[in-house]
This record gives sequence, structure tokens and C-alpha cells, in this order.
Amino acid sequence: MRTVGPEEITVAIEAAGVNFIDLHRRSGALDDGSAFPRGLGMEGAGRVVECGSQVESLAIGDRVAFVDSSTGSYAGHAVVRASRAIRLPDDVPSEVAAGVMFKGLTAEYLTHRCVPLAPGDFVVWHAAAGGVGSIATSWLVARGVHVIGLASTVAKRRQVLEAGCMAALDAEAPGTVGSIHELTDGKGAHVVFDSVGKETVELSLASLRPRGHLVLFGNASGDVTDFNLSRLGQMGSLHVTRPSLKHYIGDDAELTHAAARVLQAMSSGAIRLPRITHYPLALAAQTHCVMQYRQTQGSLILVP
Ligand code: NDP
Repeated sequence: MRTVGPEEITVAIEAAGVNFIDLHRRSGALDDGSAFPRGLGMEGAGRVVECGSQVESLAIGDRVAFVDSSTGSYAGHAVVRASRAIRLPDDVPSEVAAGVMFKGLTAEYLTHRCVPLAPGDFVVWHAAAGGVGSIATSWLVARGVHVIGLASTVAKRRQVLEAGCMAALDAEAPGTVGSIHELTDGKGAHVVFDSVGKETVELSLASLRPRGHLVLFGNASGDVTDFNLSRLGQMGSLHVTRPSLKHYIGDDAELTHAAARVLQAMSSGAIRLPRITHYPLALAAQTHCVMQYRQTQGSLILVP
């Protein structure tokens, strides 16, 4: 572990969140320009054990969560910029923070700041039983949005319904686009949130109403390439965006505001806490396998 800089803290990690994006960084599918060797893991939670000389916002002993791509959170300790750490309230255990913060911040910007959404709107959410999906769908339901969740197994679809979605469908079953149109008064969804990408983009576009929005925020099945933009006009003047969390929390003040919103939504019950499965840190490789083979529901965390 490197030594702490003037504006940095050292965190003794009590839990690290596992995110699908970690698989992309490990495989090289996501080239963020950082050099090897590098650590894995972009979020963690634990206790501050060391503060740089210029850190005033935090003290040794404070409990924090952090979201930082420059550090590796699959570790016993991490050095992070103090301005990227989020102080945790006493009633949010580190295991919960590590299972919710990165995914909750993603859900926050997607559902509140990325596209226009109002109570009564219809939304389709892919991988709705996953980490981001389970947090985001419950938050939308709490706001009065009608959510159709897509998930690949019966057990996952049961969880989607328990979260309050109006319907749970299998994206790979025949007739899913028709079912979505039937459930949305024959018009289609206002917004589709698609993190699967290559295999589902056509279903997503066909599920939208005229002037609807496709939010393509992941590529679990591969990148969408060679798309003729003129088709958006032919399909109903559709909008498409490909957003990234880093552009919505890049500024420290923005991160602080978004994190406060996530913690507030947890405390008010607007976010239904996802199922959080604990693994020992030594089994990090196994968490990537189960995620890659679509065998997870909710969040996974690693405990050192
Ligand atoms: P999840 O817990 O949602 O796991 C991924 C899920 O994707 C799987 O469980 C599976 O659900 C579904 N899936 C569909 N096709 C595939 C496939 N070919 N391989 C693997 N999984 C597949 O992960 P996270 O909550 O960590 O992340 C959700 C998505 O959000 C990821 O794609 C991630 O990269 C993206 N993301 C994007 C961010 C952004 O700002 N753009 C920020 C954070 C995450 P099912 O079996 O039900 O289909």
C-alpha cells in the first residue's frame, strides 16, 4: 500500500462492493487508461486509520464509504482522496454501504438526473433483479413510476415483483415487446434502461413510445456497434444516451449531494435494500464467476 498524501486518507476496509464494471476492468474490456499492475474494486467502506496533513473534513476513527476508480478496494486497506469519501451515519453498517453506495449512486443519476421522468410514466428496466436494478426499480416505484422489470429466471422475476414492479418479464421470451406494449396502454414505455447492450438493444428500441428515451448504461452482453442513427427517426423520433457515472459525480460537490440523496432514500425506505451476499475477500475470483454467469441477485460484497 502506498503512503498517504496530504489530501488523502487510509481506510481499513470492512467491506468492498463487487460491481459488474469490475469484470470489464479485469478483462480489459474497459480500458480506463490506468497502468498495470493495479488493484481491483471501485468501492469500499470502513474506518479511517490515517489522515493526510491537509485533511480537515475527516478524522481517525470516522467510518466512511468511498467510490474511487484509482484505488483497489478488494484489499485490507485503501488510500483514497478524502474528498471522495462519504461519512456514514451510525445506522448504516459498512457491509450495507459497500453493497449499496456505488449502485445507489448509479441509480440516483439514472433515475433523477439523466432523462425526464414523472409519476405515472412507464419504465422498462433490464437486469431488474441485479445490484443497480433492484435499487433503482424500488426507488422509481416509490416515486410513483410504473416499472416493468426484465430478468432471466423465475426466482429473479419473483424478486422483481416483490420490489413493487407492475410486471416481471423475460427479455429472451418470445412476445416480450408485445407484452410491454400491452402493459403500457398500447403506446410503449417512456424510458427503457438497458445495461445489457448488444443482445437487447433492438428489444429496447421497439419497446419505446414515440419520443421515448433509451438509456443504454451498460454492455453486459457486448457493445452496440454499427448503429444507423437515421433509424431513431423512423422508429418514432427516439432519444438515446450512453451515460457514465463518472460524468455525474466527477465534481466533489456533486458526489456529496448524490451520496446524501442515496443515504436519505435508504433511511426513508424509498430504496428497498437489495439482498447483500457476503464473500470472504479470498473468494473474489468466485464472485466474478457467479456474476459473469448471471447467478446473482442483488449485491455482492467482499469481507477482508
Ligand atoms: P448486476 O448485478 O445487474 O449483474 C449483471 C446482470 O446483467 C446479470 O445478473 C444478468 O441479469 C444481466 N445480464 C444480461 N446479459 C448478460 C450477459 N451476457 N452476461 C452477464 N450478465 C448479463 O450488475 P451491477 O448491478 O453491478 O451492474 C448492472 C449494470 O450496470 C452492468 O452492466 C454495469 O456495467 C452497469 N453500470 C453502469 C454504470 C454507468 O454509469 N453507466 C455504473 C454502474 C454500473 P439477468 O440474468 O436477469 O439478465
